[in-house]
Amino acid sequence: MKVIFIGAGPGAADLITVRGARLLASAEIVLFDALTDPALRELAPKAAWVHVGKRGFCDSTGQTAINALLVKHALAGKVVVRLKGGDPSVFGRLEEELEALAQAGIACEVVPGVTAAIGAAAATQRPLTRRGGGRSVSLTTAMTREGALRASRSADTEVFYMAGKQLAALSRRLIAAGWPADTPASVVSRAGWPDQLHSDHTVASLGRASMLHAGRPTVVTVGAGAAPIASAGTAEAQRAHEPAMGSGTPAVEPRGKP
Ligand code: SAH
Repeated sequence: MKVIFIGAGPGAADLITVRGARLLASAEIVLFDALTDPALRELAPKAAWVHVGKRGFCDSTGQTAINALLVKHALAGKVVVRLKGGDPSVFGRLEEELEALAQAGIACEVVPGVTAAIGAAAATQRPLTRRGGGRSVSLTTAMTREGALRASRSADTEVFYMAGKQLAALSRRLIAAGWPADTPASVVSRAGWPDQLHSDHTVASLGRASMLHAGRPTVVTVGAGAAPIASAGTAEAQRAHEPAMGSGTPAVEPRGKP
């Protein structure tokens, strides 16, 4: 009797870890989120797949109901996998689910996944840490539990989750939090998917990203880790669709099939 939490990664099915894929294949029941790739079903074709997706704050399946489902299926002796987008430990309500299972005396295992911030860093070739000026990284949710928008300046590079709908407001809050207006801000939506989009801005011009990324899961990287690498200008100049820093022009970077 065990529940296995598996991080699916931020996008395409092949971003799951080898361990995650192996354990997913052993599942009899898979409770999965909205942000996971349907292609992952091929890894556990015989399992019952149950959608318990939530997007943002519209709780289509309440957290209590998800907890109850996990406990019910585990107590029935099933091999239960809880598949979460990105990494289960990052803004994934893992705490609540682990607690519910611990209370019911059910053992758990957590398999890590690639979180959206890391997927976006890879997609844009923007290292999150930089020698010298980029010594710390923070993963921050822009939304409070009450649904209010918050910004902060707590690290050299700060990656904001769940701010996609309010980029103009985030821009104002970032400036109020002490970020200089010309700080680079890199916006990536659907990182890791074939249709991922990336645009470069400054903290002051972040609002211009709203239209491009509307309705898509989006992370906003601010600070040292948002800047292109020093010699990227040369390579980028050869790619006509790449914008200049801070122009706010979108760069569409489809992810090629491997
Ligand atoms: N556990 C997930 C985060 C879940 S919270 C993880 O580790 O990535 C949902 C938020 O994650 C979204 O609002 C968005 O900010 C971010 N997100 C998830 N998938 C994303 C993707 N493919 N590209 C960009 N942002 C993503």
